[in-house]
Amino acid sequence: MSDATKILLDESEMPTQWYNIIPDLPEPPPPPLHPGTKQPVGPDDLAPLFPMALIMQEVSTDSYIDIPAEVLDVYRLWRPSPLYRARRLEKALDTPARIYYKYEGVSPAGSHKPNTAIPQAYYNAQEGVRKLTTETGAGQWGSALAFASALFGLECEVWQVAASFEQKPYRKSMMETWGATVHSSPSPLTAAGRAILEQDPDSPGSLGIAISEAVEAAVQDPTIRYALGSVLNHVLLHQTIIGEETIRQFAKIDETPDVIVACTGGGSNFSGLTFSFLREKMAGKINPTIRAVEPAACPSFTKGVYAYDFGDTAGMTPLMKMHTLGHDFVPDPIHAGGLRYHGMSPLLSHIYELGLIEAIAIGQTECFESALTFARNEGIIPAPEPTHAIAAAIREAEACKESGEEKVILTAVCGHGHFDLASYDKFLAGEITDYEYPEEKVAAALERLPQI
Ligand SMILES: *Cc1c(COP(=O)(O)O)cnc(C)c1O
Repeated sequence: MSDATKILLDESEMPTQWYNIIPDLPEPPPPPLHPGTKQPVGPDDLAPLFPMALIMQEVSTDSYIDIPAEVLDVYRLWRPSPLYRARRLEKALDTPARIYYKYEGVSPAGSHKPNTAIPQAYYNAQEGVRKLTTETGAGQWGSALAFASALFGLECEVWQVAASFEQKPYRKSMMETWGATVHSSPSPLTAAGRAILEQDPDSPGSLGIAISEAVEAAVQDPTIRYALGSVLNHVLLHQTIIGEETIRQFAKIDETPDVIVACTGGGSNFSGLTFSFLREKMAGKINPTIRAVEPAACPSFTKGVYAYDFGDTAGMTPLMKMHTLGHDFVPDPIHAGGLRYHGMSPLLSHIYELGLIEAIAIGQTECFESALTFARNEGIIPAPEPTHAIAAAIREAEACKESGEEKVILTAVCGHGHFDLASYDKFLAGEITDYEYPEEKVAAALERLPQI
C-alpha cells in the first residue's frame, strides 16, 4: 500500500490496445437477430448504420485490438486519467476500507463517452462518411460525439431527450460550440417522433425514442451513419481503456480491489472499468465482487426480464437478447438521464446471466445525499449517474465500519456534474423524491415484447 492520493500513469504507460472479453467467456453471448427473419444479423445488415471497421469489432473474437495511432493522439489530450484514493471520504465515513475512484470527468466533454466517440468518429471518417446522427439522454454522449466529429471533420446531428433538453440547456450550447445540430426528441422531423407526439404532445422523451429518430435519419442517406454511445460490443470494447489503465495504476501501488461498483445505464462505463478485472478474476488471479448499480426508477437488471427486444422504441434496430423493461417503457424523468434506458448491453446482460457480476438498484435521494458527502470531502461534483456508484461505495464502506474489514473498494466517477447543477439545486431545495418502481408500466411494456 502506498501513501499516494492521486495515482497517475505517464503518457508512455498508456495502454495501446482495447481488451475484448468475449473470447474469455465460458460461452459466447447470443447473437442479435433480424426483426423480420429472426435469423442472426450479418455484417451486411448493419452496414447502413455503422462503418465496416466498427461492425468487425462488434463481432471480433480477438482478445486485444490495437488502438489506431490517430485515436491515441486524441486520447492523450486527457488520458491517462487519474485514479484517486478518497482519503478524506474514508475519514469522514470513519471506515477502515480503502476507497479508490477512477475519474473520467477530465475529458473535454466531461465524461467517459469520448473514449468511444473518438474511435467511432475516426473509423467513420476513414470510410468516407459525411455525417453522424445520434441520440443523447443527459447530453453527455451528444457532447462527446459533437467534440469527436469536430476533430475528424464530420457533421453531427443530435436528438436530445426532451426532459434533458429542458433541464440542461448548456449541454446544447456545448454541442453547438463543437458544430453539431441539436433537436429536442420526440421531434416533428421524423416519422418515429411524429408518431409519439401524436399520442403525447408533452412526451418527456426517452433514449429509446431518440434512438429511433437518429436511426431513421441515418438509414435514409448513404453518406450518413448512426453512432451509439453505449450498449453495443464495440462501445464496451473502446471503454476498456479505463480498466486497462486502472489495472496498471493499481499495480503501481500494489493494491487489489475486493469490491468494484459502477453505475449502469447501457453498461459502457461499468464494462470499461470492470472487464479487465473480470479477465483476472476468470483466470483465478483475483476474486473481487463486481457489482452494477442502477436507478430504482429504471431497474433493467434487477426487475427486467432477459429476453430478445428492440434497442429503440419504434422497433427499427435488430433484436438483442438483453435485460429489458420493454422497448416502449418510458422511465420517469429522473435526474440521472444517462441511466434512463429500457435495456442493458446484451454482452453485459450475458455476463450477468453467467453469474460473473451482481446488480443492485438505488433510489435517487440516497444517491444525491452520497454525492454531497463526496463533494464536500473529495471536491469533485459528480454527474447524477455516478452518484449511484458513489452511493454503493459508501454503503460498502459503512459495512466495513461495522465489520472492521479493511476492504479495497474501487468505483468510477465517470463524469462531472457541472452541467447538472439544476438537479443539485432541486435536491438542495428538498424537491427531489424517489420514484416507486413503476411495476404496472413495466408489466404492460413487457407484454409488448417481440415474439421469438
Ligand atoms: C452516458 C453516461 C452514463 C450511462 O451510460 P453507461 O453506458 O452505462 O456508462 C453514466 N454516466 C455518465 C457520466 C454518462 O455520460
